[in-house]
Amino acid sequence: VRIVIVHSTASAARAWHEAIAARLPEAVVAIWPQELDEPADYAIGWNPPAEFFERETRLKAFFSAGAGVEQIVGHASAPRSLPIIRLEDAGMARQMAEYCAYEVIGWCTSRRLYDEQQRLARWHEPRPRRPAEWPVGVFGLGFMGRQVATTLRALGYRVHAYARSPKPLDGMACYADHGGAGDFTAFLRATRVLIVLAPLTSETRDRFDETVLRQLQPGAYVINAARGGLIVDEALLALLESGHLSGATLDVFRTEPLPPDHPFWRHPKIRVTPHIAALTLAPEGADQVAEKIGRLEAGLPVTGVVERERGY
Ligand code: NAP
Repeated sequence: VRIVIVHSTASAARAWHEAIAARLPEAVVAIWPQELDEPADYAIGWNPPAEFFERETRLKAFFSAGAGVEQIVGHASAPRSLPIIRLEDAGMARQMAEYCAYEVIGWCTSRRLYDEQQRLARWHEPRPRRPAEWPVGVFGLGFMGRQVATTLRALGYRVHAYARSPKPLDGMACYADHGGAGDFTAFLRATRVLIVLAPLTSETRDRFDETVLRQLQPGAYVINAARGGLIVDEALLALLESGHLSGATLDVFRTEPLPPDHPFWRHPKIRVTPHIAALTLAPEGADQVAEKIGRLEAGLPVTGVVERERGY
């Protein structure tokens, strides 16, 4: 088979090339825009340029080199009939759980207050805090959200979980958009720490506007490690300003890299990280992709195929 790697980051393209070539020694693997002798059968990529699909017209599938697929689903020149296959966990869920647990613990145990106390050489012991005082709402219960929810529950947090379709999870209150279990308002009202982990789709874009964020418990915290487009920036800033929200941790943004003059960078109640909550690991990703290419070539079904109508 012929495989083309098309990635907006050159070092990531090289890592994928090496990992795929090691797992599929019979395959011919090239990094775009290097030409193969014949059109590629499969592409593995992130953010392909517009010309990519004009040249690669014989693809059997496009493997997203990440969990999110909104760029490729909404790509202007990708054929609608091209199957898109996403990474399923591939070592990202553990990183995501670590990222979210660190941020939840950071906000709920006032770590920044102690940093400030140390700066002032001030010894002050606060009252004990219990995780149960900090009900967490996880929006999106896929590979990332499930791992985050179960990790936080194991740490003693009360977890409310929300998905598109009902997803019962042990010991957690579960709600859903579709399928009868839905009460978005009840989910929001029960939540003091909101963790956003759903894909960016037509249903989730701008979902967290001022009206929605205002329904979170007073003094709530927001952690967004999904995509910037789910939360309306101005609404977040207004509610941090009014005090209804106490703080936010943001890993993802409407424009990335986050422009240097964006107010999020210097906001005293916002923690910014550069889209690193769960990095793609090329070796783990290549294990999955190589196995799936093997199955597709043998005419067998694979998991992780994106449903275009849903957008993920
Ligand atoms: P996934 O397995 O596809 O899970 C998506 C979850 O979101 C599912 O539970 C789905 O509901 C739910 N969902 C979809 N539409 C919804 C809606 N309208 N309302 C409520 N819930 C909805 O995806 P994943 O692997 O967990 O990744 C989730 C997202 O995290 C990715 O799309 C990506 O944008 C982001 N991500 C970010 C990083 C980072 O480094 N910051 C890394 C990895 C992923 P159902 O269960 O009913 O389908």
